[in-house]
Amino acid sequence: MADQERVYEMLWDCRFCGTARLLGKTHRFCPNCGGAQDPAWRYFPSDDEKVAVQDHTFVGVDKICPACGSLSAASAQFCGACGSPLDRAQAARTVGERRKAAGEAFETEDLAARQEREMRATASLVPTQSATRARGTPRWLIVVGMILALVIIGGVLAAFWTKETTAVVADYRWVREIRIEALQARNDSSECDSMPGDAYSVERRREQVDTRRIPDGQECHTVQTDRGDGTFSERQVCETKYREEPVYGDVCYYTVNRWDYKRTARAEGDRSDGPYWPDTNLRTGRCLGCEREAGRDESYTLIFRRSDTGDTFECDVPADEWQATAPEQTFTVKVGAVLGDERCDTLAAR
Ligand SMILES: [Zn+2]
Ligand SMILES: [Zn+2]
Repeated sequence: MADQERVYEMLWDCRFCGTARLLGKTHRFCPNCGGAQDPAWRYFPSDDEKVAVQDHTFVGVDKICPACGSLSAASAQFCGACGSPLDRAQAARTVGERRKAAGEAFETEDLAARQEREMRATASLVPTQSATRARGTPRWLIVVGMILALVIIGGVLAAFWTKETTAVVADYRWVREIRIEALQARNDSSECDSMPGDAYSVERRREQVDTRRIPDGQECHTVQTDRGDGTFSERQVCETKYREEPVYGDVCYYTVNRWDYKRTARAEGDRSDGPYWPDTNLRTGRCLGCEREAGRDESYTLIFRRSDTGDTFECDVPADEWQATAPEQTFTVKVGAVLGDERCDTLAAR
């Protein structure tokens, strides 16, 4: 919330004769030497120096004449000094704004310090400007772009450029697994309202379950804003502060019996001892520690030897294909031309 806005004169120093503390709205020209006001030489006054402006209508930021550099009001159509049209005139640069905690006093803004800061900022920009003066895309961007293009081309080649070779079946492997879960006592906690019905050994405790944000008064600032027409506005800006407060609730600590993963029974072999499911030796029932099956997995793998390099590689295949494949049977297979990786999905019996 902002209360009523008050308007005061900015101050400025004459850059030609050094006269200080001139008024931004009243003195458009220096009363001592006649020099024009330069908006870059405006600054905020201290609280003691403030001169209020009554019944001032804000029409916009002052304009700078493109022909002679004189300052004109935003409403002016032509330059008061040289008569040039002002429809393409640039707006004067403004000082921005400054703020203080409510009740604290403002001091005079240090114009010399601000001008030095701005000069150093422009100086540090110069090397960047000369580097980009070559116009168009900067060189580092071109280099990054070329590296990126090479990476993409390399990736595409590695993925799609293949050659064909042959391989023979050298060995077989199968794996069958049964996942087993057991009824186990599990400790857990939740808010008592959402506790499961079969919980036992319940212990109820009063604990913090959440935090709440509570409005806790206002924090106010005085904000001064350069309006760019030789005046600045001053207003109070207040924001609501908040504090955090703990929220308490009933938390229940309890035990429940749940089916949880316990172990995996596994069997594996080659072609000589054909695939079978492993013994699970389940302790069936509803007792604590009793077991049940949770799922089965099987995989069938052919192990190939490449005829060109002699390297071996493995491919998982469907069970019927695994059964139907003869030892030393020859297949064609595509391999990546870049990485030499075998593509199992291209296997074809010859
Ligand atoms: Zn002067
Ligand atoms: Zn002009």
